[in-house]
Amino acid sequence: MFQPTERVRTMKYAIRDVLVQAKQLERKGKKIIYLNIGDPAKFDFVTPSHIRQALANAVDEGANWYAPSEGLPELREAICEKEQRVNGVVIQPDDVVITQGISEGIQMLMAAIVESGDEILVPGPTYPPYISYVKFFGGKPVAYETTEQESWQPNVDDLRAKLTKKTRAILIINPNNPCGALYNEKVVKEIADLAGEHDLLLISDEIYDRIVYSEKLVSTSCVAKDVPVVGLNGFSKTYIMTGWRLGYIYFHDSDGKAGELKECVKKEARVRLSANAPVQKAGVAALEGPQDHISSMVKKLQERRDYTWKRLNAIAGISCVKPEGAFYVFPRIEAVDSTWKSDAEFVYNFLEETGVLFVHGSGFEPTYGYGHFRAVFLPPVGILEAALDLLEQFMSKHA
Ligand code: PLP
Repeated sequence: MFQPTERVRTMKYAIRDVLVQAKQLERKGKKIIYLNIGDPAKFDFVTPSHIRQALANAVDEGANWYAPSEGLPELREAICEKEQRVNGVVIQPDDVVITQGISEGIQMLMAAIVESGDEILVPGPTYPPYISYVKFFGGKPVAYETTEQESWQPNVDDLRAKLTKKTRAILIINPNNPCGALYNEKVVKEIADLAGEHDLLLISDEIYDRIVYSEKLVSTSCVAKDVPVVGLNGFSKTYIMTGWRLGYIYFHDSDGKAGELKECVKKEARVRLSANAPVQKAGVAALEGPQDHISSMVKKLQERRDYTWKRLNAIAGISCVKPEGAFYVFPRIEAVDSTWKSDAEFVYNFLEETGVLFVHGSGFEPTYGYGHFRAVFLPPVGILEAALDLLEQFMSKHA
């Protein structure tokens, strides 16, 4: 009688879906090490005090109203200043729409660009909501290969071969979740050129723009020239504001080709009223205040990355590309399809036996993610060491 729609019954989000089993085990008394969610605030990274204070002040000073639907003007200005300073991207406040995290931005964008049967090219593997929302709006996510042997760089020939008359947009996630790849300028340029040749929109998720280890990010908008780019970015990771839900969409579109799309996204923003007003005030403080926590965060993460990557590659049956951005490893498990029936079986067996929670690679896209798992290297080395010791024992026992 109260049958939910097919589109929600089939929705998946592997990163949190795996929690169901972990919580069951926890209730039975098992200690769980959660390495599934990319949330720095769950570990020893703390929202800087000037940002916390700005939120408290905003509430005390009465910024408890609905904000303008596109976002507070001062935040949209601060974002333009940041994008130019950090990423070299020149945009105006009118090009920016504030969202409740990139997550809401993905939903709003896909609602605005996907008609039934439209195809959106996404990296394989990818951040799962891009798959979920394309499907939700009746479209077809088509994964283009990112090549493990080439540090998970996109395979542009594969991407080109997957273009059809129904393709509407190409998604880039750079630095990438789940693989930790930082795309080189040549690859970003080749993808942008393809988008230009075929009149496609480029979508660029750069939420990890400040979390890079040896090289800087080359922002898609800087190489795309007159190809319209919809940028997605936010405050969750760099400013450790995951629970506050603040992000933004921007349109980098010198020729105004995506002008109507921008106006339609603003219409959507009006229908959902606004993003959280006091948090937007804190967002201004985040962008305009001291930035020194970023370099110390990256330094800490780099040590954890180096430790995790080295340990993983020393375990028989596991191999791992070195991440150049974000805070994830995406190792390959050799014995999937022999010892374990699938990567999901590996993850669940490992969880049951050891209490360590990873996410199966196929949860990030079945073709290219299969046979892998994703883990965060956010925790201090002591916790990583405990988890990796358990993985080492588990592999020597089973693989
Ligand atoms: N985009 C990517 C690539 C992510 O990895 C994440 C979170 O892990 C998000 C977007 C979600 O960001 P937000 O917290 O702004 O909704």
